[in-house]
Amino acid sequence: YRAKERGNRYQIYANELNAIVSEQWTMERNLRGALERGEFLLHYQPKVDLQTGNIVGAEALVRWEHPVLGMLSPAKFIPLAEETGLIIPLGDWVLREACRQLKVWHERGHHALKIAVNLSTRQFQQKDIVKDILHALAETGVEPAFLELELTESMVMQAPEEARETLERLKEIGVQLSIDDFGTGYSSLSYLRSFPVDKLKIAREFIHDIPDRDGEKIVNAVIQLAHSLQLQVIAEGVERQEQVEMLKRAGCDEVQGYLFCRPIPPHELEAKFQTFNSSFLV
Ligand code: C2E
Ligand code: MG
Ligand code: MG
Ligand code: MG
Repeated sequence: YRAKERGNRYQIYANELNAIVSEQWTMERNLRGALERGEFLLHYQPKVDLQTGNIVGAEALVRWEHPVLGMLSPAKFIPLAEETGLIIPLGDWVLREACRQLKVWHERGHHALKIAVNLSTRQFQQKDIVKDILHALAETGVEPAFLELELTESMVMQAPEEARETLERLKEIGVQLSIDDFGTGYSSLSYLRSFPVDKLKIAREFIHDIPDRDGEKIVNAVIQLAHSLQLQVIAEGVERQEQVEMLKRAGCDEVQGYLFCRPIPPHELEAKFQTFNSSFLV
């Protein structure tokens, strides 16, 4: 009886495992096919200069226009793309597409606009990353200073010495480097400063806590310290007017969030270059 029960359990386990493996396999094939069929696209969310109220840049955020499921957010497919390695060709596509779009905008007269692209861990750790970025810039004719790369603390901290080398090579090319979701990892700002990064992006978790007393104190302290270390600061996830006012008082350089604009298709963003009104910045 026992042996049989164990046997059945094994059978159930094997079936489940099969289902998981084949689901994973199907998703992986879907992702690969989606890339070949051109089902990925980029939305852009503006970055606003807190002094002038102008749009100074935009972050490229990938979406998957799934033929059946509709528009999928990156949380639904980036982890699997990371796991399967498909993030490498996908990340490379994002980079090229963002640079291509930026070149178009530069040619249409928006000369100072910058585009930020998110890098994934695996993409960053891949040995050809610097070459891939150079290729994307060369192919599209974008000047390196207008491309910003967003990395996370954990990407840098996982293998600090390798990361340092890669970051130094990227700085030699002339691209801008920023630390995304700052404050959610476990790096110290002073150690982080020993890497050649230009900008900190304060994680939305902290912005969310404004005007809560401690939220405001933490954000103030981060901005002061970052500035004293010659780092620029941008706040992400800004949703309320009172947050903007506090950030402005604290001397934050740029802001990004639903209060200003959601991530939108490129033609919609282009329309905003002319009409964007940030009078609510005070
Ligand atoms: P992230 O780089 O931190 O991007 C910011 C995310 O916050 C975006 O979500 C954006 O839509 C959302 N967001 C913007 N403003 C607000 C706000 O005011 N409130 C709130 N609650 N959220 C706001 P999204 O587009 O779903 O992207 C999620 C994450 O997926 C990104 O976080 C990034 O880590 C990753 N991701 C997106 N595109 C790419 C890509 O091309 N490559 C890689 N490797 N990762 C990407
Ligand atoms: Mg980002
Ligand atoms: Mg972020
Ligand atoms: Mg993130």
